Amino acid sequence: MSSRHLLITAVKWASVLTDPLAGPRRGPRILIYHQVGADSGLEMDVSVHALGRQLDWVERHGRVVDLETALQGLDGPEADDMYVLTFDDGHAGVFEHAYPLLSVRGLPFTLYLTTGPIEGGSSLHDDARMRLLSWREVEEMMGSGLVTIGAHTHEHLDMRHHDEERLRQDLATCNGVLELRLGVKPRHFAYPWGHWSAAGDRLVRELYDSAVVGGGRGIRPGDDMYMLHRVPVMARDGDPLFRRKMWGGFRLENGLRDLRDSLAGSSGRRETS
Ligand SMILES: [Zn+2]
Repeated sequence: MSSRHLLITAVKWASVLTDPLAGPRRGPRILIYHQVGADSGLEMDVSVHALGRQLDWVERHGRVVDLETALQGLDGPEADDMYVLTFDDGHAGVFEHAYPLLSVRGLPFTLYLTTGPIEGGSSLHDDARMRLLSWREVEEMMGSGLVTIGAHTHEHLDMRHHDEERLRQDLATCNGVLELRLGVKPRHFAYPWGHWSAAGDRLVRELYDSAVVGGGRGIRPGDDMYMLHRVPVMARDGDPLFRRKMWGGFRLENGLRDLRDSLAGSSGRRETS
């Protein structure tokens, strides 16, 4: 194990030990997944086995709901038991490996799609195992009635590095492609890498009903609908760490990530990939 991996593991376990001290974190938890079952070795690529176990746990301890149900039920009696499954970018493993599990269980999920690479048949990573979905695969999943389609920009832009005009053009293209290919006007947005900017924030509020970032905790009444927190699920989490994230968030790890980002001069919180 490299020293970096040792450090990451140490921080995760320190989070496990310190989270209970701050009491439970409540409210619907929006989980972030990316790729599933591609065996790429990347942290964003969760194994089919791990996903199955995580779904087992979530179904035993709560209820998987679609994004809208969670956002409308924030102050309802069932809010603490709600989990929302989201998949960013549009990786093919979602169709090949996650969808069979989700459809047989009847679990709703959200796809935040990056339309440019899907349209171009390319990959976000220089790795053949990280193929992206085809529009036909997205349509097939939509046919189940379980899918909410969200936008994730056209070119997976880091909003901090582009001006308002460029961002406006990108989001208009993303929305246009989703409407053309899927007949969907997306109402929900996920910031690539969880990064936002003042200009991006203005546009996103104009174009969508909600936006998600990283953050690692549940969402609660009074939260800004355009800065909704999510909980990233990573390949190395393992069962105990996954449970800890679901119960308590991962405050120490998230706090350290925020600190690192602020030291690096980021203008927005960063998700894990
Ligand atoms: Zn992304």
